[in-house]
Amino acid sequence: MSSNDDYMLEVNDLLVYYENAIAINNVSLKCQKARITGVFGANSAGKSTLMHSISGLILDMKEKEMRKGGERITWYGEVKYNGKDIIDVKPSDRAGMGLVLSPERRQVFPESTAMENLKIGSYLATKEQTKKSLEFVFKLFPELVNMKKREAGFLSGGEQQMLAIARALMAQPKLLLLDEPLLGLAPSVESRLAQAIKDIKDETNITIMLSEQYARPVFPVIDYGYVMENGSIVLEGTSEELMNNPDVLGAYFGM
Ligand code: ATP
Repeated sequence: MSSNDDYMLEVNDLLVYYENAIAINNVSLKCQKARITGVFGANSAGKSTLMHSISGLILDMKEKEMRKGGERITWYGEVKYNGKDIIDVKPSDRAGMGLVLSPERRQVFPESTAMENLKIGSYLATKEQTKKSLEFVFKLFPELVNMKKREAGFLSGGEQQMLAIARALMAQPKLLLLDEPLLGLAPSVESRLAQAIKDIKDETNITIMLSEQYARPVFPVIDYGYVMENGSIVLEGTSEELMNNPDVLGAYFGM
């Protein structure tokens, strides 16, 4: 049996509304320390909204919407990080606490070089940490070594995703949130990245939570997973339990 101390993140009874439409409907989930937790769901299931609620970006989104007189974004519930409710903590402060999001669609700075992107990622790190992290990301993604001076916008989709994960690692995450890291990539690149995500778990103490639409390429590397439909968690289990569930196979493996 694991105690609550084993969990780096606990989301309790989270509800998120965009105006009157519910995007997250009473979601509770946990991420165990130094493990990989997956969240799976179709388009619009609520994966990104969940990631934004955990990273805190939803606070920025709410403020932006309020300033332009747009929709009202509201939420209720708890997001506990190392036992402390952080639901009202600004995203920049959450990043300082080690909660780092690599957003959907690999948002690298296209006009900056790969190396500049990595340096931008390390703005919260000391010189010593930056040096160590650079060594780690180049070991994890040797492909990036020869791309240091290339503009990120000219890299392939797979290379940009490697860069996006590497940049997030430069920010010294303790909990790394990867929102659909395999989106739109070729199958060979998908398995390369899934392996790299596992390598991060095996070689560091970083806790990882990732979301994906299609479970197949990441099932072998996750420790525990949740399935979301229309903003709610409908199933959860270990990788093995989910893989043996015929509903999951049908919906997320196309079998
Ligand atoms: P995708 O795979 O398409 O990224 P997702 O699982 O990440 O989907 P979300 O983007 O979190 O899902 O969307 C959840 C629901 O909230 C959807 O119905 C979506 O239309 C709605 N939604 C998301 N962002 C906004 C927003 N800024 N304003 C209004 N509704 C939104």
